This record gives sequence, structure tokens and C-alpha cells, in this order.
Amino acid sequence: MKVKQSIPKHLRFTVDQFYQRFPDDDACLEFLKEKRYPQGVTFCERCERDRKHHRVTGRPAYACDYCGSMVSPMAGTIFEHSSTPLRLWFYAMFLMGSTRCGISAKQIQRETGVTYKTAWRMFKQIRSLLDDDGRLEGPITVEVDEMYFGGRTKRKHALPKPKTTVLGAVERGVGGRVIARIAGDATKPSIHGFIKEYVLPGSVIFSDEHRSYDGLEGPKYRHFRVRHSERVYVTGSKGQIHTQTIEGFWSLVKRGIGGVYHSVSKKYLQNYLNEYSFRYNRRNCGNRIFDAILQRAFERAS
Ligand SMILES: [Zn+2]
Repeated sequence: MKVKQSIPKHLRFTVDQFYQRFPDDDACLEFLKEKRYPQGVTFCERCERDRKHHRVTGRPAYACDYCGSMVSPMAGTIFEHSSTPLRLWFYAMFLMGSTRCGISAKQIQRETGVTYKTAWRMFKQIRSLLDDDGRLEGPITVEVDEMYFGGRTKRKHALPKPKTTVLGAVERGVGGRVIARIAGDATKPSIHGFIKEYVLPGSVIFSDEHRSYDGLEGPKYRHFRVRHSERVYVTGSKGQIHTQTIEGFWSLVKRGIGGVYHSVSKKYLQNYLNEYSFRYNRRNCGNRIFDAILQRAFERAS
């Protein structure tokens, strides 16, 4: 996977810019209010009519001038019920969007002074926002591959844990998107089911020579295989028969999970895959990915 090392100026968002835009918790709250109430907080549920509202001193809320009923822009978001300052939440999102390989809860603990448990819970919450659902759009040229995660244990003589199968599909090209999903196994029904769900008919599929890809070629898809066992990684007239794009994505995830998150239980693996896919799918946004993450926090508010 090719990612440019230097980010174009208009796509940069540095930590200095972050501090300028969000100097304190109030600035974050104002931002949140403007996103969720673009016209300001105008309606009072208790009065059942439009009322003027004012900011409540010392609380992240706005109150009706008439009856004092309060509205919090944090209600229904992942920030609700959290005693962690809003600015730290924003900063954690900034960090998650700024690195290719992800950052660990340990890092945010060190940088901000919150407890490890708090940092871990923040990441878990933020990560839960980052699923890109839906199939890959349009008939495309796509690489499909299977990958196995886990299986190792730190304890000597302990039985290795079962590996988790993950299926992935990545569209080739500059803006190509990736989909990665935990699957029960890598059998033919699983793989064919995955492809049917996420890859539109008419697409050209590249895979390795795993038998489960048998039978893909037909009226729906064109299918080419890479013969890894013969060490032919790139074949074809223009070198187009390869699965290096998806393999690049797997190695990014593996490096990240191995180096940053150490070990990930099966329970959370899909969320990690979502986080990596979310960043990968926005790899041309520079570190404006932060905006996209922040946006999710409002969109997913109940
Ligand atoms: Zn009121």
C-alpha cells in the first residue's frame, strides 16, 4: 500500500491547530452545541415551546430562561455520563485519526494523565463509531483474501487459542476502499457468502489459490488467481495478477495490533478492523480524519 509521507498543506491538522481550535472544554462544548443545534438551543421540552436558553455556569448544559430545564449537547453521544473532560475525548480522537498504525490506551494515559482504564474505555467507545458499512460500490477490480488472527498465547505449555478467520476485500486504485469482516471459517460457503454480500456482480476478483475461491468465475464475476505456492506473486501481462493491496492492509493491521494493541480478543477484533478500515478508507484525507471521527460522534448520537 502506498501512502504519501508528506501530507498536503490543506489536509494537515497539527496538534498546534488542535489546541487553537479547542483551547478548553468550553470550546469543545460550544462546537458540540453548534453541530447538534445549528440554530442554537431554542426549544424547551418542559415548556413545550420555543424559549431562550443560556449556558449554565459550571455545567456542560444550557438551560431554559423561563423554567430552568436543562439540555446537554452531550446527551445521547459517547461523551454522555463520562466524567472525562470533553477536550480529552477530542484529543483521543485526534490521536486516533493522526497515526496510520493506531495508538494505544497506554499512550493516551501517558500524555493526558487519565487512568489506563479510562483511556481504554474512551478508545473502545470511539472505535465503536468507526464502522463503514455497506458494500464496495460499483463493479470494481477487487482483491479478496483471508487472514488469521490470534492463536498465540504468552503462557508456556498452554494450548494455543483458536485462530480467528477474517475475510477482506479491497478495491484497487487511488481511492479504493477496504472491507474486513470476522468470519466463522474460510470455507467455500463463507468466502462466497462474503463476496456476494460486499462485492457487486460485474467485478473482477483477484485471489490466492485457496480452494474456497473455486467456482467464483462465471456470469457474475471474472476471477484471477495468484499462485503463491509457486512463489509467483505477480503474474499476468502487465503484472496485474497479484493480491498485494489486501496483503498491505493485513500487514498494517497486524503490525498495529502486534505493536500497539499487543493482543486483541476476538470480542473486540471487529472493532479494531473497523478502525483500521476507517483510516484506510480515508487515507487521502491527511489528518483531517479527525474531522470524520468527530462527525461520527454527532451522527451516531441518539
Ligand atoms: Zn422551559
